[in-house]
Order: sequence, then C-alpha cells, then structure tokens
Amino acid sequence: MIKKHNFSAGPCVLPKSVIQKASEALLDFDNGLSLIEISHRSKPFVDVMEQARSLALELLGLEGKGYKALFLQGGASSQFLMVALNLLEKRAGYLNTGTWSDKAIKEAKIYDDIYEVGSSKTAGFNYIPKGYDIPEDYDYFHCTSNNTIFGTQMKNFPNSPIPMVCDMSSDIFSRTLDFSKFDLIYAGAQKNMGPAGTTLVIVKEDILGKVSRKIPSMMDYKVHISKGSMFNTPPVFAVYTSMLTMQWLKDLGGIKAIEEENEKKARLMYSEIDLNPLFKGYSVKEDRSHMNATFTLENENLKETFDAMIKEAGINGLNGHRSVGGYRASMYNALTLDSVKVLVEVMSELESKA
Ligand SMILES: *Cc1c(COP(=O)(O)O)cnc(C)c1O
Repeated sequence: MIKKHNFSAGPCVLPKSVIQKASEALLDFDNGLSLIEISHRSKPFVDVMEQARSLALELLGLEGKGYKALFLQGGASSQFLMVALNLLEKRAGYLNTGTWSDKAIKEAKIYDDIYEVGSSKTAGFNYIPKGYDIPEDYDYFHCTSNNTIFGTQMKNFPNSPIPMVCDMSSDIFSRTLDFSKFDLIYAGAQKNMGPAGTTLVIVKEDILGKVSRKIPSMMDYKVHISKGSMFNTPPVFAVYTSMLTMQWLKDLGGIKAIEEENEKKARLMYSEIDLNPLFKGYSVKEDRSHMNATFTLENENLKETFDAMIKEAGINGLNGHRSVGGYRASMYNALTLDSVKVLVEVMSELESKA
C-alpha cells in the first residue's frame, strides 16, 4: 500500500482517527443503528448538534459573547446570498481578493450596487489590497480571510466601524485571531472541518433583524437560531464528522497548537519554493497563505518528469486551479509535516536531476 500524501484543495485531507470514528458511526452509532438511519430529533443526534455548536464557539474563544453557531446547508456559496439577504439594506463594502470574493460580490449585487473598497483583480489576485477605507454609513464590510485558489491570506484585519463579515472557508481553525472582531463568520466544512454538506456560520445575534425585506425561512439566520440549527433535517453525517474534527483539534491543544504546526509546514514549503531555482511562487511574499501554497515550474519541459515523480511519491491533489495553473499545495490542519517533507524532497530531487 502506498501512503497517500493528500494536498487536495477541497474536499481534502481529514484526520485518520476522525475518518475511523465516522465510519464506525455509519455502522453502529446507537445500539446497532447507523448514524444515518436515526431521527435527527433523537437525543443522541441532538447531543451531537449541541456539542458541535458549542465546540465551534469554544475553539474560537467566542463563548458567552453574544454569538450563535449554526450548521447550515448550501455550502459557503449560499452564504454569499444569505449574508446580503439578512444584512444588506442600503449598501455594503466588499474587499475583492479572489474568485470567491468575486462570487460573493456578484450575489450581493442582486440587491444593491456593491462598493468594492479594494481589489487585486487586475494583478491576477496575487496580493491583498491594503490601506483601504471602510465607509461608516454602510451596513457591513465583507472580506475573505484566505484565498484558496490564488494562495493569499489576510494577515491583518481592519478595525471595521461597521459589522465585519468574513468567509473563512479555507482557514477556519488554522490560526489564532481575535475572532470577536468579526460579526459573522462562515466556512464550508470541506476544507478544514469535515465532509462537504454543511457550512459553519457564527453570527453575533445583535446584527440581525435590521433589514426591512421579508426573508424566506430557509435563508433567515434568525429562524435557524430559534430552532437550534434544526429548522429542517440537518446533514447529520457532515455535522457529526465536523464535530469529531473539532474534538480532535481541542484534544491537540486547540487552534494555538495547530497554528504552530501550520507555521512549520508553511515555512518548509515556501523555503523550498524560494531556494529551488526550478520553482516560482505565485503570490507576493507578505501575503502568502499558510493553507494553500501556489507555485509554478519555471521550465515547462520538466512538467512531465515532475508529475511522474509526484505520482511515484504518493502525492495527490497538487494541480493548481485551472484559473492559475501550475501547482497548489494545500496544507490544511490534518496534513502532516511529514507529507510536506515528502513533497519538498521530490522538489529538490528534481533540482538535482535537472
Ligand atoms: C471552497 C470555497 C468556497 C465555496 O464553498 P462551497 O461550499 O463549495 O460553496 C467559498 N469560499 C472559499 C474561500 C472557499 O475556499
């Protein structure tokens, strides 16, 4: 058996122990019944949902601060629309840092002529704009903490005078931040938490209920809050597996502990990209993502050799997004430092061959 080193951008690597426990629950979760064949209203599952919601707040240090955690469906992509429906009355400001922010802007534009406070679009989104102003009389400011496709990450967040909304799909639980700076955080599970099928939403209750439009029930955060994230049947397997991953992270020592690991992985990866003359990093150094490292081969003639070497080493999911090309090493929480070492060895082996 070849051990796979899974650098996939999403869905992606999860802790082996989590997959083990999740698969056991598929066979026998409650007295011989599978997790996916019991009622979501039964006590064993209600407990899972409650635990998942409280673990999310606990890991982010947001307990007792007026926030609610929800596990919704429709992916992060539905949040692009839901945020606007629930918060947008007059105008909102968006920071455009990549494909996902661009899509968030497109959805919000259904309701308003969105103002882009900053954009790196003309530079191929290879950096994070800085020094922008956030108008005080807007409804909210929206940003994307980590740009999965281009490999950039916001290292600093503004002191926003208005509610700050952040798409943290690809770096949630990966680094310590003052999460209380944000009023609404959302993240699709499939990058750092669990299987696709659920989206974590953390929302500060006091920003809700301020728009005049009627909001359809399934799109209304207040409805989901009032029903304990069980307004309709939740995606039980995705929520359970996400809960296991959060438990795994808590047992490791929480976000602080994983942040140290993530820094080691990123340092090793980027030092190889910078020192090896065959490769070139895509994004500007100061904005490099610790989750997704994007790079290209300087000499395209080596592509076939490199791809064969990657495959031989059991490395999976290293292809760049079709809009950027090249390669992308996604180093989410569950990817081990050993996997990064294997990739870096292959890269330096290519250098010695070339
Ligand atoms: C993957 C991703 C999305 C899209 O998530 P879906 O769950 O597929 O809708 C949105 N934003 C970011 C930053 C992502 O990485």
